[in-house]
Amino acid sequence: MNSVNTQEARAIAESGANIVHHVNGTAFAGSSARKQAVFNPATGDVTGQVSLAAAADVDAAVRAAKATFPLWADTPPIKRARLMNRFLALVNENKDRLARAITLEHGKVFSDAQGEVERAIDVIEFACGMPQLLKGDYTEQVSTGIDNWTMRQPLGVVAGITPFNFPMMVPAWMFPVAIAAGNTFVLKPSPIDPTPTLLTAELMHAAGFPPGVFNVVQGDKEAVDALLVHPDVQAISFVGSTPVANYIYETGARHGKRVQALGGAKNHLIVMPDADIDKAVDALMGAAYGSAGERCMAISVAVLVGSAAEKVMPKLAAAVAKLRVGSGLSSESEMGPIVTAQARERIRGYIDKGIAEGATLVADGRAISVQGHEQGFYLGGTLFDHVKPTMSIYREEIFGPVLCCVRVNTFDEAVQLVNAHEFANGVSCFTSDGNVAREFARRIQVGMVGVNVPIPVPMAWHGFGGWKRSLFGDMHAYGEEGVRFYTKQKSIMQRWPDSIGKGAEFTMPVAK
Ligand code: NAD
Repeated sequence: MNSVNTQEARAIAESGANIVHHVNGTAFAGSSARKQAVFNPATGDVTGQVSLAAAADVDAAVRAAKATFPLWADTPPIKRARLMNRFLALVNENKDRLARAITLEHGKVFSDAQGEVERAIDVIEFACGMPQLLKGDYTEQVSTGIDNWTMRQPLGVVAGITPFNFPMMVPAWMFPVAIAAGNTFVLKPSPIDPTPTLLTAELMHAAGFPPGVFNVVQGDKEAVDALLVHPDVQAISFVGSTPVANYIYETGARHGKRVQALGGAKNHLIVMPDADIDKAVDALMGAAYGSAGERCMAISVAVLVGSAAEKVMPKLAAAVAKLRVGSGLSSESEMGPIVTAQARERIRGYIDKGIAEGATLVADGRAISVQGHEQGFYLGGTLFDHVKPTMSIYREEIFGPVLCCVRVNTFDEAVQLVNAHEFANGVSCFTSDGNVAREFARRIQVGMVGVNVPIPVPMAWHGFGGWKRSLFGDMHAYGEEGVRFYTKQKSIMQRWPDSIGKGAEFTMPVAK
């Protein structure tokens, strides 16, 4: 830890690049002098310093969003959608620029960053269809001469608080839907990789959104707390780790806000003995080590049923040994560095714990060094066999390239194991038996389920969300649930003088 702190202190002193906020359509320096170093994890170099907002800076962003809300909410949905279409075109034009910015601060390989931008585009495209999604319901003649309809209206200023691991995609789960529905938005991204969000803000501005519709405040807990208690913030969408999600949900609700808080994960992939073993091994490799395991839908546990274990383990061990780790900008690399030196220390600590707890270490990523990038935050692919449900490496989210294999005897045992875990974000089962697949999908207590699909991230119109301690709140992100989250329903009942009867009515109105 000491070496990290020294490195960070030196880096802050040396680095010139200043990463600030974006408020009311322009760069905003804010009032706070607090800053945090931003690293390129592939080299260990500091590439900038990000400002950490004080409560007054958050207030400035919320005020800008509040001032723009009446105009924006009044703008016809089709006009809002047209601006979203322009933004979509600009994101498409800047795909590789955005992906490069992601790789430079997050570390994931460039092709994976391109995939992240693509998945953000999916949601922007969905938001372009907002006029259709905002259509209300109408019933003619609920009583003689009376019609009743419902419509959905925006909430006001809404805020998003997002994690480091998808600096473009996760914000895009939120703001395109919220903004197309007529809200104005304040985003608080992770200070670890703040640049992709600023590029996004520039593109939103270039698309022609009125200043104040989309604002970004950089920061840490201080900025988050200011959003949570701000009386003019109507709703909070959060994505991050479970303890923080829990805190956001409770604190936001206590301050009268609508909250959806998506938390951490421990995703299992069950391999049945009848599965295509080579495909299951490929799936485990990509899902466990892609993005260095720093995905909320990464597979971190393989559940090997019966004879599947003897078939899978040797192939998996051979594949992990060949995993190519290096800079995300090299087309040779399959896996980039870990996001920060601190995160790498945390993951190494879990590997030490797994050994101490008695799991069998099949592949050890701790000693890796990448030639020419010796100061980068690298860790090799790590594989444990004979992991038991009581071990901390099984129970806790490691969020790194560490795959834990658990052996069970039957499909029922596998289902019970998954269902007993406190996290319930994603899960997958590899099998060639249709009945097993059907039973799995029905009985598993997890929000997002894959059958022969290792990372079942739902498409933009289906909505994303886990169960249990992977999501606090009632509604999933994006899709129709996202539209519901960012709007409130109003019911209107109407009649005109010709159909109004004479005299006061003192009984409960009923259909006549
Ligand atoms: P994190 O919880 O540390 O940070 C998330 C956000 O909360 C950041 O903006 C951060 O600045 C802020 N924050 C951090 N600590 C805070 C505190 N004490 N009080 C208030 N705000 C705080 O998460 P991370 O490390 O950036 O991201 C990784 C985590 O996110 C993993 O647990 C992963 O599973 C989870 N995640 C979940 C999903 C999902 O959809 N369920 C998606 C992506 C990531």
